[in-house]
Amino acid sequence: MTDSILIHNCTLAVTAADTLREDGWLLTRGDTIAAIGTADTRTQAETTEATTIIDAQGKMLAPGLINGHNHCAMTLFRGLADDLELAAWLTEHIFPAEAAHVNEEMVYHCSKLAAAEMILSGTTSVADGYFFEGQAARAFVDSGMRAVAAQGVIDFPAPGVPDPAGNLEAAARFLDEWQDRNPRITPAIFAHSPYTCSAATLQGAKRMAMERQVPFFIHAAESRQEQEMIREPRGTSPVRHLAALGLLDPDTICIHGIWLDEEDLDLLAQSRAGVIVCPQSHLKLASGIAPVSAMLKRNIRVGLGTDGCASNNSLDMFREMDILSKTQKLHTLEATSLSARQALRCATSSNAEILGLGKTGQLLPGYKADLILLDMQQPHLSPCYNQDLLVYGASGADVRSVIIDGRLVMHDKKILSFDVEDTMREVRRLAGAICEHQGRNRG
Ligand SMILES: [Zn+2]
Repeated sequence: MTDSILIHNCTLAVTAADTLREDGWLLTRGDTIAAIGTADTRTQAETTEATTIIDAQGKMLAPGLINGHNHCAMTLFRGLADDLELAAWLTEHIFPAEAAHVNEEMVYHCSKLAAAEMILSGTTSVADGYFFEGQAARAFVDSGMRAVAAQGVIDFPAPGVPDPAGNLEAAARFLDEWQDRNPRITPAIFAHSPYTCSAATLQGAKRMAMERQVPFFIHAAESRQEQEMIREPRGTSPVRHLAALGLLDPDTICIHGIWLDEEDLDLLAQSRAGVIVCPQSHLKLASGIAPVSAMLKRNIRVGLGTDGCASNNSLDMFREMDILSKTQKLHTLEATSLSARQALRCATSSNAEILGLGKTGQLLPGYKADLILLDMQQPHLSPCYNQDLLVYGASGADVRSVIIDGRLVMHDKKILSFDVEDTMREVRRLAGAICEHQGRNRG
């Protein structure tokens, strides 16, 4: 018998734009939303079909959030080096820590820890990019999450790819291993940036992504230093550099998109490349504020992510939506520049579309059953007039239950898909090795 979950007695937030509906119900069938409605439209058939029934009195049922950019395994480096400029943070702290501590075991356990944090805070899909990405993909499979898992490509010796001459072969091996392997995992390629990858590497990586029909990610236009590094030898901007190499198209996803001029914006709009912004990482590394409202006005496809948690340091997408909207208001000095609904759309249906996740990010029949239930009977969520409250009032801690691909992976705040205590124990053990290593280096 196909598993089927009936959730009833809840408030429905069907899409980012829709009005909330009271006395709602939703029925899943296998991995899909079979039907949705309000009490007056429900028949006995829904109850008969359901193998699990959840009475969601006092709760809001919403689409699971999608984290458009993460380096999940970096949970190990959370809080290791705070309050630094991007260049110093990367070259003096993050790259050396990665060289010393990233291995297959680390990527598996630390990505699983990230999955726990994301599930607990209502994120059902993530776009991840890292090294040993096969281990990250394994962690997403074991945790029950949906993921776009992208193998990192960089022209430096990297974890698992000691000789950068082999970086594209490593990406090809990853795709060989993960294409068509698990319906929840979309493998992809992540070229680190225009300043850490040569033109040949960038074009080779993009060609491979096109041949295999997988998404292609790249960090671009993140900092002023990056702009200068590209302008000096090439006399151009990071986005123009990527466009000139033929890299911009609807299957390319640029991460950050902060330092963009008018011509860059035109190129992003014409090419239909996606842009994922990570406002908290941008604030913490003082990278700048991405011109999101200007991008949306030009119909550039914009989504939202947290970035790795060494530069955020939280993976809570509710917090990210709130900061996205408020930083745009401050940036433009216009309170209307980016609404709560637009932020919610960035974190749900826009991310789904940009990442090629198909029918996810909305509560509609035929869409994937990726759902979250929030406890609305709390002082800070009372009263609730509309779903703006999800952006400006709610936090990940308000999520009580999570269904991904039709499977209940968290119920009443307990993760059912794997042993989180065990994962935390493993990550603490790995963190202990970092402390020892640092002690030795200082000594
Ligand atoms: Zn990143």
